[in-house]
Amino acid sequence: MDYTARRNKMVDEQLIPRGISDKKVLDIFRKVERHEFVSPSLHQNAYEDHPLPIGEGQTISQPYMVALMTQCLDLKGNEKILEIGTGSGYQAAILANLAKEVYSVERVASLAKHAFSVLKKLEYDNIKINVSDGTLGWDEYAPYDGIIITAAAPKIPDAYIKQLNAGGKLVIPVGSMFGQVLTVIKKTRDGVFTTEVCGCVFVPLVGKEGWSK
Ligand code: SAH
Repeated sequence: MDYTARRNKMVDEQLIPRGISDKKVLDIFRKVERHEFVSPSLHQNAYEDHPLPIGEGQTISQPYMVALMTQCLDLKGNEKILEIGTGSGYQAAILANLAKEVYSVERVASLAKHAFSVLKKLEYDNIKINVSDGTLGWDEYAPYDGIIITAAAPKIPDAYIKQLNAGGKLVIPVGSMFGQVLTVIKKTRDGVFTTEVCGCVFVPLVGKEGWSK
């Protein structure tokens, strides 16, 4: 089966039946070449229903989880988005197709470098990557219309709420090292409103306002 057929199968069998309904999100999952973001030995597995290793003990999330987190941001196309945990760059690529600009922070330099080269090869020109401790956000380009954290946080770092625009949403897995709750926080002029979406399991968010290792 070719990759386009595999992507369509992924959308039809993994995303739609589980409730991903945002048409723009579904369309982009049919297009973005997920296999480009994993090593050649895993190309055949790129559209399967589970996370995959990307080196340095890290993983590219299951397609459904990437789609769910993206759908939670409710993007219209004109947003400036902050992602913490660039990893392979796949989530950044999805966001770059659905928003105006993506700022992505990764703590592991080798992963950031590799993601940068893949995104360059695929001709993305609206993604900036920074190597630093993303538990502090990325102050330089704040405020953001949406913030997405693709690693598990023990608590919500203050910087994320500060760097979020009023009306914007923060999507973050919060909990222990072994299991978290995917949480959406909407910032409004009247305060912040929290919604718990589902259970999930992510690699730890390591840094000053995250886990120590
Ligand atoms: N979004 C990625 C998946 C990332 S896995 C993708 O689409 O492939 C989580 C990533 O978060 C890992 O690459 C890990 O190194 C990174 N990470 C963990 N703690 C971090 C921190 N404090 N700042 C930035 N990145 C961090």
